[in-house]
Amino acid sequence: MNQFQYTRPAETAVAVKSLAKEPNGYFLAGGTNLVDMMKMGLVVPDKLIDINRLPLKKIEKTATGMHIGALASNSEVAEHAYIKAQYPLLALAINAGASPQLRNMATVGGNLMQRTRCPYFFDTAMPCNKRTPGSGCGALEGINRMHALFGASDKCIAVNPSDMNVALAALDATIHVTGVKGPRAIKIGDFHRLPGDHPELDNTLQKGELITSVDLPTASSAYNKHVYYLKIRDRTSYAFALVSVAAALHIENNTITGARLAMGGVAHKPWRLSTAETFLKGKAVNEDNFKHAAQIAMQGAKAYEYNKFKLKLAPNAIVQSLKLATGLAS
Ligand code: SF4
Repeated sequence: MNQFQYTRPAETAVAVKSLAKEPNGYFLAGGTNLVDMMKMGLVVPDKLIDINRLPLKKIEKTATGMHIGALASNSEVAEHAYIKAQYPLLALAINAGASPQLRNMATVGGNLMQRTRCPYFFDTAMPCNKRTPGSGCGALEGINRMHALFGASDKCIAVNPSDMNVALAALDATIHVTGVKGPRAIKIGDFHRLPGDHPELDNTLQKGELITSVDLPTASSAYNKHVYYLKIRDRTSYAFALVSVAAALHIENNTITGARLAMGGVAHKPWRLSTAETFLKGKAVNEDNFKHAAQIAMQGAKAYEYNKFKLKLAPNAIVQSLKLATGLAS
């Protein structure tokens, strides 16, 4: 590891100003991703601004829904009684990720900022446009079984590794950030980006902006009964998703009156299944409708040499998650 400056401010404004002055500086929260990348030489900072003293840990019910401070740990969110009762999809998704030890350290803000687990990104001997823009993409012609089905480009086919982000997408979260130009709010669908020509950019944060909180709207708390987070992975714990599905339905008299669906492990950002949601609205709860929704959701999917199995796995996972959410499967 290189030598770097380290500060630990107690005020958000001071932290933001401190980073603004440092072109090669990073905010440090739980460190579960950043410190790993520093050890591997992927991130070589001149300055770390440790934000753990900032007052951004609060989790509370508000007039408009739920406020989750960016420094709340993943465990604190997943174990919060009101979140478990009203936003259970979020608790399920978080508990599907990492290990208890990591969830105790990892923060909500850090989880939003997680970088891809594409093995070529971590191997500094290999080309990777995300790590070194313009160097090429080792995964395009390489072992790409973990990679994207949707929204990829010829510059990058990596996926977002987070489980939490998939639930936040389904729950219409809003990300609050602040920077030297002041605070702003970003809808979760606009927070992570597709790779396009600039895969080095994972999200739409401006340089120096800090995530301060995540808000969940009251409307999403109606989706608290028929929910499931299905994660398909190579081993049953402590592994990233090959495909995951966050499913939440609102049902009255066996008719679906609203659907929230998002997939993980298939795109550079959590992949909301809006057209499948629209199809399901007003339909009866049955397997045929779930299969049709899955078919719709898969339109536009494109596989690579080693991830063709996902073309079958993903729609099956959608159907199974809907069956599990509605009690058609157990
Ligand atoms: Fe890098 Fe993206 Fe290609 Fe992986 S898929 S090697 S992260 S450019």
